[in-house]
Amino acid sequence: MKMIAATNNIHKLEEIRAILKDKGITVVSLADAGLTVEIEENGDSFTDNALIKAREVWRLTGEAAIADDSGLEVDALGGQPGVKSARYSGETGDDKDRKNNEKLKAALRTVPDGKRSARFCSAIAAVFPNGKEIIVEGYVYGKIGYTEKGGNGFGYDPLFIVDGYGKTMAELDSKEKNKISHRANALKEFVKKLE
Ligand code: IMP
Repeated sequence: MKMIAATNNIHKLEEIRAILKDKGITVVSLADAGLTVEIEENGDSFTDNALIKAREVWRLTGEAAIADDSGLEVDALGGQPGVKSARYSGETGDDKDRKNNEKLKAALRTVPDGKRSARFCSAIAAVFPNGKEIIVEGYVYGKIGYTEKGGNGFGYDPLFIVDGYGKTMAELDSKEKNKISHRANALKEFVKKLE
């Protein structure tokens, strides 16, 4: 089966593609599908935003669409940055991941070790040609470090120390990340529902 991924984030696209490849699902990009859309994410939850993106691509193409909306929830910040994870620092350009991490470190500067728990959340929404929808969520738990470590992944990965690993997500290689990440966990649920 072919699905169009409703994202312009190359990292997410590669992760979704790698995880679903083994399940016989070919994931193509918006560009591959001839679409140059920037879909506005104005929902209040990861689920709402994932559905907005998948439905829009299905509406435009009539083909199967899959979308991820994801982010970081930090307990000491009452779940922030949450759905605003991508825009946390206000920066939207190439430097946004670095700026977001700087802001997160500053926000947690005085928060002690035992109170730095966090989780990544991914909501995956899929819409099929007949209009049928699947929506699932996945999580991975950890805590926020004091300095960035590791060069893999993207976003908050260099600050997110994965529970049980003692390493940041950015210190794991892509194969390891794709086994344990929030996106991997959501996609496992998605495949279960598909079957
Ligand atoms: P979205 O495009 O609105 O779903 O924004 C997702 C944002 O959440 C990204 O820009 C990252 O800042 C953060 N995020 C989501 N997934 C990950 C991940 O796997 N690692 C690190 N940061 C992530």
